[in-house]
Amino acid sequence: MTFDPSSAANEFSILRSSGKEGKLHYLDNAAMAHIPDCVIRAMVEHDTMRRSNVKRGVHSLAEAATAAFEGARATVAEYLGVKNPDEVIFTGGTTAGINILAHSLGLMFERNDEVLISQLEHHSNIIPWQVIQQRQGIRLRYLPVTSDGRINLERAEDLIKSRTKIVAVTHGSNVTGSITDARILARMAHEKGAFLMLDGAQTAPGGPLDIPGLEADFYLFSGHKVYGPTGVGILWGRKDILKKIPPALGGGEMIQEVGLEKSTFLDPPHRFEAGTPPVTQAIGLAAALEWLSSQDLLGMHNHLKRLTLRIMEGLTGLKNGIKILGPEIGMERLPLVSFSVDGLHPHDVCQVLNDRHSVALRGGFHCAQPFHNLLKLDGSTRASLAMYNNDKDVDAFLNGMEDCLRILR
Ligand code: PMP
Repeated sequence: MTFDPSSAANEFSILRSSGKEGKLHYLDNAAMAHIPDCVIRAMVEHDTMRRSNVKRGVHSLAEAATAAFEGARATVAEYLGVKNPDEVIFTGGTTAGINILAHSLGLMFERNDEVLISQLEHHSNIIPWQVIQQRQGIRLRYLPVTSDGRINLERAEDLIKSRTKIVAVTHGSNVTGSITDARILARMAHEKGAFLMLDGAQTAPGGPLDIPGLEADFYLFSGHKVYGPTGVGILWGRKDILKKIPPALGGGEMIQEVGLEKSTFLDPPHRFEAGTPPVTQAIGLAAALEWLSSQDLLGMHNHLKRLTLRIMEGLTGLKNGIKILGPEIGMERLPLVSFSVDGLHPHDVCQVLNDRHSVALRGGFHCAQPFHNLLKLDGSTRASLAMYNNDKDVDAFLNGMEDCLRILR
């Protein structure tokens, strides 16, 4: 049986209602995917039936809320393919998670230690390290990018040095859609005693993961890109490493004992969850991951691959100064396509597609300005897919692009 995107779309109120009017071709899923009704229901049920603060109260409601919250942690661990839920830290999102990691690890860095990232990174994986660089005098180095928009792993051997403390890169690019070969990088990093961090914001939506198989030490993602709520994300870290890292954020429920001069901290994950965590969102995230895991994942992948190919072939057919960024047709990529159009600003392209064709795209730097600078582009336009997108969305996009070239050129 072939994958039916309409049965997935039926589970989303926003898509059902806009579908009736024949509107909204939502192709901005790499920025935020929609949320199915069952996930919203799980959060409403929690807030109406079990709302209470977690990890502190001894009354029944607090215990029920804590059990639900810790249950959500176990669901995330299962999705990641890891055995120990204590390796799962709830954060506010990928950005928050990278900041927590950078600031905590940074406390152990010495002057002239090195952090290796890449020129393809999202700003979320550049700025936190630049802050540490300015604060502590570490060196920030960059892996270059190949002409087809992948992190150039051939340069990694040279760039990972004995002073490199962490290699922190995107697992899948939100601009080029390229996927990083994590294991090769993990082995090179580990050989030199460095950790490997993967920004999984764009790879986590692809379905359950095999984190141990990636051989990484840290992995991060955001709730709102995996059909879950905003305001929540995950920082996964290997337990033996997390245990050695001091917390950078302090507050309630991460402590063992607090004195006026000195305090001691709980074991991970609680050590890294200062203050009230995003309880309702964590429960929504777990519901989203369960829902996603229950889909026909192989069917979904083939469906997304086919639509991505249609977009790439359609754009290539339009010619007219369109340049697709990232891996060529036929090569592995995430279900997203960014492109530049000679002489047209991405915001104008997005405006025409939205106003005249009800197609939602993203235009600009996609929070990856260094990469666009490298290509001497003042932005690109991106179409990104989720499982509920269908051929009509792609038709609307390609017709819209044809129209856009006609009227703006
Ligand atoms: N990294 C990548 C690759 C992303 O695509 C994004 C979101 N666009 C982020 C990091 C940041 O995620 P968030 O805004 O949810 O913190």
